[in-house]
Amino acid sequence: AIAIRELDKVYGEFHALRGVDLEVSERERVVICGPSGSGKSTLIRCINQLERHDGGAIVVGGVALGDDLRNLDAVRRETGMVFQHFNLFPHLTVLENCALPQILSRGARRATAEEKAQGYLARVRITEQAGKYPGQLSGGQQQRVAIARALCMEPRIMLFDEPTSALDPEMISEVLDVMVDLAEAGMTMVVVTHEMGFARKVADRVVYMEAGRIVETAPPDRFFSAPRDDRTRRFLSKIL
Ligand code: ATP
Ligand code: MG
Repeated sequence: AIAIRELDKVYGEFHALRGVDLEVSERERVVICGPSGSGKSTLIRCINQLERHDGGAIVVGGVALGDDLRNLDAVRRETGMVFQHFNLFPHLTVLENCALPQILSRGARRATAEEKAQGYLARVRITEQAGKYPGQLSGGQQQRVAIARALCMEPRIMLFDEPTSALDPEMISEVLDVMVDLAEAGMTMVVVTHEMGFARKVADRVVYMEAGRIVETAPPDRFFSAPRDDRTRRFLSKIL
């Protein structure tokens, strides 16, 4: 589903990604972790081209990402993104947040868009709140709405950037549960998170990044029980 080769990203003089290689197969779940500033967000923002890359190749769903802006459009259709700070439109209701993107960027009819929105809101267990505004919802509810909104665009790949790190502890599991459901339904997922319980449960592979590089990639069993790189071991000893 995703093939990344020798990816480089620079901000001015600063090298945020250095020669990153990563392949994600259809229906695969990859968890990315690593210290602050290691390039995790930059990597997933390059996948859907919220950031342009400076070197290397990215192919998403068979489409190569380069200068061709038509490809940009194609790749945005393939991927859904969920951010740490939900990024819902505060002046739109929950239902409108989910329906409007379908209408504006896909030309969906309102009735169809709202019906689909209701369906995905039910899947993330938001039913009573469809008429409320984001500010009237808890953080966990808002994040589930953000997931429903992304799913309404019927992406083939879901990208998550620390979806639970802005939440109060008691709301983390309701969001992770929805993500586990999605994984069990066969969604291809790339998830930046430090929720290692989630990684153990659903990841096919865990990727550890440091200083713009992938240091180690392993299935969760081995990643947690027998990390091979000293840097991975040090990181795990801090967070586990
Ligand atoms: P965190 O865990 O804090 O979210 P991260 O692993 O997601 O960290 P990135 O956000 O990808 O890290 O940032 C990688 C590096 O690139 C950081 O040192 C950051 O300061 C730098 N960086 C990110 N975005 C920009 C930008 N727009 N301009 C300049 N430097 C940037
Ligand atoms: Mg980040």
